[in-house]
Amino acid sequence: MPAASSPPKYKKVLLKVSGEVLMGEQGYGIDMNTVDLVAQSIAKAVKDGTQIALVIGGGNIFRGLSTAAKGMERASADYMGMLATVMNALAMQNALEKIGVDTRVQSAIPMAAIAEPYIRRRAVRHLEKGRVVIFAAGTGNPYFTTDTAAALRAAEMGCDALLKGTSVDGVYSADPKKDKSATRYDRLTYQDVLSQNLRVMDAAAIALMRESGIPIVVFSIRTEGSLHKTLNGKGVFTVISDDKTAA
Ligand code: UDP
Repeated sequence: MPAASSPPKYKKVLLKVSGEVLMGEQGYGIDMNTVDLVAQSIAKAVKDGTQIALVIGGGNIFRGLSTAAKGMERASADYMGMLATVMNALAMQNALEKIGVDTRVQSAIPMAAIAEPYIRRRAVRHLEKGRVVIFAAGTGNPYFTTDTAAALRAAEMGCDALLKGTSVDGVYSADPKKDKSATRYDRLTYQDVLSQNLRVMDAAAIALMRESGIPIVVFSIRTEGSLHKTLNGKGVFTVISDDKTAA
């Protein structure tokens, strides 16, 4: 039996996982091994008593903006992007349920046959019961992103933090994959992110988190054990809040 661990620092979180993470080493689509790995870390967090809501992106399958650039009407392209997030949500639901985690998918675009409609109070109740709620179809509106959807749901659920699980371990001064001199920030303010145009999340998501006073924690979800560490305030990550000094 493992020793009982101390209670997590964050008790209720919204975890945003971009579509890109789910494609693993592939160039496109869903890599089920990667989805399984992410599901395992979520299962551990739920077991530790953390309430977890998920927003999953769709960029591994379809991005509205890039298709609109090729001549498709932007709103239609964005609806296709939202449908892509539903596919990812179902893949994640399956991976979680397979390992015994109760889940509910709630879609911002009603799809009665495969998901519940988004109902805020019902989602809160699911979380209280220890179910992972996967929010699909973004905000349900074109011209938005799943980052904004994640910020919106984090505020609506009253989360302690918005965790952004990416393929790098925080926010860097430049792209660490391209620039060897890039340095990682431990802490930033919302204003730093906006004024320095750091590519963490879009401005609408950052502004909403600033208004709601919810910290954003950027960490690498591809590193084993990192979600657990991050939830306990340990490990490597960047925290974005109004207070650069707070722990
Ligand atoms: N999208 C949208 N409204 C939303 C969320 C998403 O129109 O509220 C569309 C948009 O076209 C976007 C696509 O869905 O490009 C996939 O989402 P996103 O690019 O945010 O996914 P990620 O980058 O996180 O994988």
